[in-house]
Formats: sequence, C-alpha cells, structure tokens
Amino acid sequence: MKKYKIALIKGDGIGPEIIDEAVKVLDAIAPKFDIEFEYEELLMGGIAYDITGDPLPSETVSKSLGSDAVLFGAIGGEKWDNLPREKRPESGLLRFRKELGVYANLRPAVVYDELVNASSLKPEVVKGVDLMVVRELIGGIYFGEPKGRDEDKGYNTMVYTRSEIERIAHQAFAIAMKRNKKVCSVDKANVLDVSQLWRDVVTEVASQYPEVELSHMYVDNAAMQLIRDPKQFDVILTGNIFGDILSDEASMLSGSIGLLPSASTGDKVGVYEPIHGSAPDIAGQGIANPIATISSASMMLRFALGEIEAADKIDSAIKQALAEGYRTQDLAAYDAKEVCSTSEMGSIIANYAAK
Ligand code: NAD
Repeated sequence: MKKYKIALIKGDGIGPEIIDEAVKVLDAIAPKFDIEFEYEELLMGGIAYDITGDPLPSETVSKSLGSDAVLFGAIGGEKWDNLPREKRPESGLLRFRKELGVYANLRPAVVYDELVNASSLKPEVVKGVDLMVVRELIGGIYFGEPKGRDEDKGYNTMVYTRSEIERIAHQAFAIAMKRNKKVCSVDKANVLDVSQLWRDVVTEVASQYPEVELSHMYVDNAAMQLIRDPKQFDVILTGNIFGDILSDEASMLSGSIGLLPSASTGDKVGVYEPIHGSAPDIAGQGIANPIATISSASMMLRFALGEIEAADKIDSAIKQALAEGYRTQDLAAYDAKEVCSTSEMGSIIANYAAK
C-alpha cells in the first residue's frame, strides 16, 4: 500500500465545492491502485484572513512543505478586495508560490472531441489540440528589481539569470520527452536583451535532449499562431509575463475555463490547481464545473506522485463522462444529454474511474 500526504487548500468561493469532488474521485481510484491518501486541510485566502488575520498562515506553508503535494481550489472575493495589499488573498497566493519555490507553471490545453463546438474557434482548427504551456512563474518582470512608481514615472525590470532559464528549460524538455518531443520557446529576442540570453540558454539546454525538436518564436507571432493553427504546438516554453498571456489565450481554445487544470512545480512540493478563480458569482449554487480540479488531481498523480496509470484512469473517466453527454451548466449548450450539478458530475467521473 502506497501512502501519500496531500495538503488540501479549499480556499474561497467555489473552492470547497470543487475540491470535494476531486477528493471524491481520488478516493474512488485509490483502492484500485493500492493507494492510501491522507488529507490535511489547510487555510488560505479570504477564509484564512477571516479566521487568523493572515491570508497565508505560516502553518499552511510549513504543513504544505511537509506534504507530498498540494491540491488547491481557489481564493479571493469582493469581500476582501479593499483590504491593504498584503492582507489580500491574492498576496497570500503569490507569497505561497514564492515560499514553495514553484518556478514552473504547467498548463495543458486540451480540446475534448465532444466539446469542439464549445470553442470560439472553428471545430476543424481546434479538434485534436493537445498542448502544454510551461511558464516560468517566480522570475521575470513580475519580480525584477528595480521597480516602482511616482507621480510621473512607473517602471519594472525584466530580468532572468542563466540558472533561472536553465531550470525551466530542463522542465520543458523533460515534459516534451514524455509527449511529442517538440518544444517551441517563445521570447522577444528581436527587441529584448533578456530574451537574447533566454534564447541562447534554451538552445544550450536543448543539446542535452537530442530527441526533442526545438524551435523559437517571437511572442507576437506565437499569440497569432495559437489562434491560426494551435495543433502545431506540443510544448510551449516561455517566461512569466508572456506565459501569463499565452496560457490564458490557449485556455480559451477548449471552450470553458472550468475544464483546465494546472501544476506549479519546483524543487520542493508542487501545487495542483484549476486555472480559474473562486467564481464568487456562482459559489454555493452547486453549478461549478469540477473537471478542472479533478483534472488537476490527475496532474498531481502524474507529476508529483508518479502514479501514471491512476492519472490516465481519471483522464479517461473525464472523457467518458463528456462522451456520454454529461455537462455542467457552463457547457449545457454543447450536446448535453444531461445537465448535472457539481457533485453529480464528480460522482459520475468517480464511478467511471473506479471501474
Ligand atoms: P474566475 O475565474 O473566478 O471567474 C471568471 C468567470 O468564469 C465567472 O463568470 C465564473 O462564474 C466562471 N467560472 C470560473 N470557474 C468556473 C467553473 N469551475 N465552472 C463554471 N464557471 C466557472 O475569475 P474572476 O471572476 O476574475 O475572479 C474571481 C475571484 O477569484 C477574484 O477574487 C480573483 O482575484 C480570484 N482569482 C483567484 C485565482 C486563484 O485562486 N488561483 C485565480 C484567478 C482569480
């Protein structure tokens, strides 16, 4: 029997509803793969502020670091929007990522065959899309110094060191080795010095992965190519700000923000979470789509725990539920045979996964 300690951070809004469904699915597959999950619920976000006065209590960091992986819902909401910046839920999340050293954000964008009509692009453009954005998460212009503003001037610094580029590039190439062995590195090397270094270092790292085909693309072109022909991509490797924008663009290929998972990994413990936020507009109504979170649990099995077969089982259970026509409210307009609640969708996927 393999035992894994999972830190559960439910957070705010729909966070608790969607995490409960992911746990339901994990518990459904556990006996089949001889796994035992031990969960520990930790506080973060608005709820943590309400209870402890801090959106990221230190216990949440220490216990997360002591776990095998963190499964995270979402944080934030209007109630906490006017707090001082350091007390806001979002500041807690940035601090959390920094404390865990999760420098690589992995965001798959997969278009399910059953949902090709849900995309805002033509079905023939998106059918079969299966790409992974690997974004550097704790460096670049969001963290570079100096930064600041006064009445007349605002400035930030885009900076990457050789070692920061090397470690994210290794992640991207290692992931490509398990996929279709193609990496497209996205930068702005025609204008930015930092991007020239990025390009050189990525090219050097590529020499250690001779089986992987490396291409380089300017970010403006990449934004266009993602819409024109997204199937050309396997792994997209890029820095923090470009990845922020491109991964949101890629997510829309699939049709609903409620479908897409993510992983944030580094040298310590990884965080697995849906790409969407706490959706306060639908919280408590039982209509949130839990698939992004269930799919994040599958990424956790695959990347943190090495439980590939269990992850595959969850992925195929999600596909089966969609193929059978089960849809949550957000996808009700797309070939729905039956519109289900958050917990009904969780149970349907759990049942398929347990078979
Ligand atoms: P959001 O992602 O929460 O919601 C955007 C829209 O998508 C809403 O209409 C929402 O109802 C819908 N939606 C999101 N998830 C869904 C799901 N699973 N099923 C069905 N519909 C879903 O983004 P927002 O409204 O801009 O932000 C709300 C709060 O979430 C803010 O406080 C924001 O700061 C926070 N936020 C948190 C995270 C995080 O925890 N990682 C990420 C983004 C935003």
